[in-house]
This record gives sequence, C-alpha cells and structure tokens, in this order.
Amino acid sequence: MENIDKTRKPLPENTGRKAWRYRELVEKGAASYIAPVTSPWDRSVAPSQLLEFIDCQAAYLRRREGDRYEAPTHVVSRAIGAVVHQEMAKPREQRTKNVAALFTGANAVPKQQQVGAVRTAKAIIAVAARAERKEAPSVNRTVKEPNPIFWWDKKTQTTWVVKPDEISMTPWFVGVDDTKTGKHRHRYAEIVPFMMGLVVRETKAWKAIWGVDFEGTVKTRLKYMRGADGRWLPRPEYSLDAIGDKLTRQQEARLQGITGFIREMDDAWNRGWFRVQPGDHCQHCNYRNDCPLGKKWMLDHPDPAATALQAPDQPREVAAKSA
Ligand code: SF4
Repeated sequence: MENIDKTRKPLPENTGRKAWRYRELVEKGAASYIAPVTSPWDRSVAPSQLLEFIDCQAAYLRRREGDRYEAPTHVVSRAIGAVVHQEMAKPREQRTKNVAALFTGANAVPKQQQVGAVRTAKAIIAVAARAERKEAPSVNRTVKEPNPIFWWDKKTQTTWVVKPDEISMTPWFVGVDDTKTGKHRHRYAEIVPFMMGLVVRETKAWKAIWGVDFEGTVKTRLKYMRGADGRWLPRPEYSLDAIGDKLTRQQEARLQGITGFIREMDDAWNRGWFRVQPGDHCQHCNYRNDCPLGKKWMLDHPDPAATALQAPDQPREVAAKSA
C-alpha cells in the first residue's frame, strides 16, 4: 500500500507541531483515505476550511494539523492578495504610492514576476479605492480586517469562526464584504459570505465593534477583483445577498447544505480517516508534491492555465485590443 511519504515520520518532539507527518493511505472500496489524525478536533469551522474540506478532506486535515509542505503554490497570486488586503485595510491617506516595496518578506515573489505582480496589485488597489470612494457617502461606520468573530452553532455543536474583509454600517443595513483578489472561483464560494453574514447577525457584531444597537438586515457581498481568466476587472464584480429576520428558502437550503458538510467533517474526525479527493483543486494544493493520488490526477489532467498564452496582469480591455 502506498503512503503519503514513508520516509517522513514525525520525531517525538514534533508531535502536534508543524512537521513532516506519516500518513497512511487506506483504500476502502472505490475511495482512498488518509490516516491517522494526530490531535483532537477543537470543533471550530472557518468557511475557508469548509470549502477545502468539500474539495478534498485530506488537504483539509493536512492543513488543519499544520503539515509541512515543500513549496507553496500560486505564490504570486497569494502575494498580490496579501498586498491588496493590507493596503486597503489602511486609511486612504496612509496608503503608499510605492506598492513595489510591499512585495518583500512573506509577500516576496520571484524577481522575473515582480513587475507583473506590482502592476496587478496597483491596478486592483486603484479599482478597489474607486469603489470605496463611490460608496463612502452612504457609509456611517466601517472596519477593515476586523478581528475574527466566533459563534457557537447549537445544531452542529461547532464554533464558527469568520473574518470578513470589511464590516460597514449604513442607516439601513450592516454590510459584510468578502473580497477575492485571485482568479479562482469556487463552486460553493457563496458559502463564505453567507456564513460571515449569519455570524455577524447572530452575534450582533456591530454592538461589540461600535457599541450601537441595530435590528435591520445584514447585506453580504462576495466581491471579485479579477475575472475567472485572471485579468483584473475595471470594476468589482459582486455576488449579493441579504440576510433578514427570516431566511429565504434558498438561504435555508444553503444552511442545510453547510450543516450537512459540517456533519461529514464531524464523521471524518470521529472515524480518524479523511477521504483523498483529487480534482482541479490539486493545482492549488500545497501538498500536491507529496500526494500520490493528486500527482496522478494532475498528470492525467494537465492544467490548461499553465499553458495559456495570455498574460494575467492585463486588464480585460487591454487584452481584447491586443488580441
Ligand atoms: S494534491 Fe489533491 S488529492 Fe492530494 S491532498 Fe491535495 S487536493 Fe487532495
């Protein structure tokens, strides 16, 4: 039977810490699982963890338990995202003109990709700042990159942990933003702002943040700054929702779906085995160099984006003109 890596057994001093862990690959029927679990589940669920679990339970477990990996994937995309989020979290007057200087330390990118990364980050920051200026007159209060918000969900007996990119308040509603600076669009991406909105509403987060009372609607926005082809957009693309006193039928169905996935997560922690589920998401997985099933899947399904001729750091209009 194949293993994740037979040579990498954790040293006793690394138990429970980020380490090269031994994970046995178990085949059961048509499915493959990895085991074992090395530390108990704290019963917390963040929306991004849920998406990762839906894609591949094994990747979720390995990230959750802090498994070490050889080389992170999509370094440039992640650095651009970090720079844009950091910059937009600052008050307008404190933002820098020297965006290139932000691509250092944890945000460093390979030299040959730095010019493109800086250009993309600058463009996205400009688009986000323009949208921000347009909305400013109707917003009374706003907090960017707030601290994580925790809420105990009785139904699944789990703590939901959410961290919106922005929470704002107008006289009519509380806004919750989840901003995506990458091109990847998960099929269940709407789960993220929905969980954020529910937690903000259930905890009345505005009371803790601003000390104000409010009983209205929570409006959520999934905000894409790049198209699915990787090009930055001239204006953000939004997926909107509003959570009122009573959930709509569609929101109820979404909540049931979330609850079902969390129950699956609970089952996986209880049995101690997590399914290995190769797919397109292997291209984004940090463990792809260390996963026999993921490697095989990628060999059988080469990434078309890797061979695409279009440069991802151009706006759509420029690309269309030069085509
Ligand atoms: S490479 Fe693919 S199959 Fe392997 S852990 Fe990552 S997402 Fe799962």
